[in-house]
Amino acid sequence: MTALKVLYIGGTGRTGSTMVDQLLGQFPDYFSGGEMAFFWSRGIGAGAICACGAPVRDCPVWHHAIASVTDDPDGLAARLVARRQRFRWPHVFAMWWPGFSGRRLREIAELPTTAEALYRDVATTQDSEVFIDSSKEPHYSYILREGSELDLRFLHLVRDPRAVGRSWQRRRAEAGLTTGEMMEQRSSPVASAYYLFSNIVSEIFWRSRTDRYAFLRYEDFVADPARILIAIGEFAGAPIDPSTVLDGASFEIGELHTSWGNPSRVGRTSITIRQDDAWRTELSRRDMVLLTALNLPLLLHYGYPIRPSGRRRTRLRSSRLRRADLGQR
Ligand SMILES: [Zn+2]
Repeated sequence: MTALKVLYIGGTGRTGSTMVDQLLGQFPDYFSGGEMAFFWSRGIGAGAICACGAPVRDCPVWHHAIASVTDDPDGLAARLVARRQRFRWPHVFAMWWPGFSGRRLREIAELPTTAEALYRDVATTQDSEVFIDSSKEPHYSYILREGSELDLRFLHLVRDPRAVGRSWQRRRAEAGLTTGEMMEQRSSPVASAYYLFSNIVSEIFWRSRTDRYAFLRYEDFVADPARILIAIGEFAGAPIDPSTVLDGASFEIGELHTSWGNPSRVGRTSITIRQDDAWRTELSRRDMVLLTALNLPLLLHYGYPIRPSGRRRTRLRSSRLRRADLGQR
């Protein structure tokens, strides 16, 4: 059995990943699964709505996939949510303790093996070559990589941390749930801590796997989506012809079964890709200074200007990392 290709969109939240995911999901070889790290907690446990409009457990695609791994979805969900609690972000710091990772991975082995079976069933019924998991969390990608036979490719998606910080301030309803819940909001210091942690850990986990790691700035994607799509297709292992989906900078959203993620995954029919620079005027002076100062190491590392009106530059990096940079190819 050949390993199923999984394009893992990794890094941190609010980087435009939902749109990239929705666009990729329009190509017949690609299936947009959503943030699969939350499949059992949100998709099943909290009764989330699939992008097709049905509750995840009733959606024909997911219903079939769930039935292929269990006849007791609630029991399995409770067990896997508990397993996931055993390897969350604080545990990343314990990984340098000898023996910790191996022991923990053995304890939670059911999590990645179930994920693999679930992704496989979907890829088979939907006749897809690449399963897109947009979980972002680097530690979940590590669990999948070490605990399954999936052929994981990590697309490290980043965005200017000030745009990310502004997005965390917005108050929006959690459209994927029927509970009236609001999306999480984060202050600039908390958003920065999350940004630094997720991006640094992404590089630590993946930088040595040069053929399985690609770097992409959201801003480079927006500047030339067709070129980047071709590069993503080469990286993910299933060629993409942008002209079949993209009409200039716009695309129609066909049937999708994204199980969990940003609420914008539900209910949209078309999208126009454009730079969203509203953060430059919307951020308060205090937040602009905080987000710039706290994220300074990565701001420079990723080639973002210190002054918000400045120009992005090519990352000055080793040739190895430049090759991984989809924006610079
Ligand atoms: Zn669905």
